[in-house]
Amino acid sequence: MPLLVMKFGGTSVADLARIKNAAQKVKREVERGYDVIVIVSAMSGKTNELVGWVEQTSPLFDAREYDAIVSSGENVTAGLMALTLQEMDIPARSWQGWQVPINTTSAHSAARFVSIPRDNLDAKFAEGFKVAVVAGFQGVSPEGRITTLGRGGSDTTAVAFAAAFGAERCDIYTDVDGIYTTDPRITSKARKLEKIAFEEMLELASLGAKVLQTRSVELAMRYKVRLRVLSSFEDTDENSGTLVCDEDEIMESKVVSGVAYSRDEAKITLVTVEDRPGIAAAIFGPLAEAGVNVDMIVQNISERDYDDHPGAVTDMTFSCPVNQVARARKAMEDAMAAGLIAYDELNVDTDVAKVSVVGIGMRSHAGVAATMFKALSQENVNIKVISTSEIKISVLIDRKYMELAVQALHDTFDLDKA
Ligand code: ADP
Ligand code: ASP
Ligand code: MG
Repeated sequence: MPLLVMKFGGTSVADLARIKNAAQKVKREVERGYDVIVIVSAMSGKTNELVGWVEQTSPLFDAREYDAIVSSGENVTAGLMALTLQEMDIPARSWQGWQVPINTTSAHSAARFVSIPRDNLDAKFAEGFKVAVVAGFQGVSPEGRITTLGRGGSDTTAVAFAAAFGAERCDIYTDVDGIYTTDPRITSKARKLEKIAFEEMLELASLGAKVLQTRSVELAMRYKVRLRVLSSFEDTDENSGTLVCDEDEIMESKVVSGVAYSRDEAKITLVTVEDRPGIAAAIFGPLAEAGVNVDMIVQNISERDYDDHPGAVTDMTFSCPVNQVARARKAMEDAMAAGLIAYDELNVDTDVAKVSVVGIGMRSHAGVAATMFKALSQENVNIKVISTSEIKISVLIDRKYMELAVQALHDTFDLDKA
């Protein structure tokens, strides 16, 4: 039997009516002759609520219990989806991660797949079941504990199942009808793309475009999964939505193809740290051990004999997700108490956001950074930190200017025009 993977995100299963709507889409594919693996998210808002409960109970929580709690939203939707399909006379069964089993590493809240054995699901399909509904976002560690894959992880579950079961396609049903040049919620000028290259989607996702989890794009690229994003609220067919594919399948070529943003960033500066070999390791080692995802880093030029500091000193600035500030602060204070580092002040700015432009055309075009900075300066947006790679440029700015910056960059690079 040909097989499809269909993933439904939180808003697509937000209530019983929407679950029914999603189930109708599954039924249509079954009627076309497919066996279907359905991956479901928690009902929209559920995971946030669960995370909130964890944080209220224990600010520096034990990640094993975090996973036990936040994975539960998906269990409910998986069962409801299976029941809804049964009511439509489609033989369906639900599966939690440990039942498949979805074997992952034990990196709680950021686990990675180790293996997804096919035997259990294959046996059910052989019995005549047409649909396996699998709870997204979760797995089981070698120690037998529940793990989760990081926020947005159901996308990655979907792609992993598509790869493991050789699915014809992996369809990601969501609340927008495809992948756009930027988040259509930020500007109505955002344009839907027919196709987007894996590399570009990978950058956009890792820079904050949450339409696909980064790891899902990585896996799709590695295992050559035909990955598509489309609307769960509209009538769709084989040509709907946006296909994520190889670069050479794409005709359109622009220098910049998308703008991404990440709202919840924080900037931390260690003021007057000693400037000596090993200082970066002494700062970023403890941060890594504390599980802080450091993103941008700037080390200021060194100053000599500043105030009452005899040797050379510098300021070290880095960014991280705003919800990791408490962990970062503690890691730095512990490192100071242990005598590994010394600083005069630790300044935290929690009102920053990151805005990035992405395009594979940047590999062969100079001047993108200059154009970007000019556009921001015309809007009077001050840039706090800059970082670049082969196909992207990112800036850290005050959060209140984030939407303005996205709109200005979208206009400057003519992204509304095909
Ligand atoms: P789901 O719950 O279905 O997983 P998400 O909220 O995770 O949905 O992702 C879909 C959202 O991603 C859209 O509602 C949209 O606001 C946002 N988004 C951000 N960047 C883009 C983009 N470039 N194209 C489309 N959607 C985007
Ligand atoms: N429910 C999880 C989250 O909100 C996983 C997902 O929806 O992909 O992050
Ligand atoms: Mg998502």
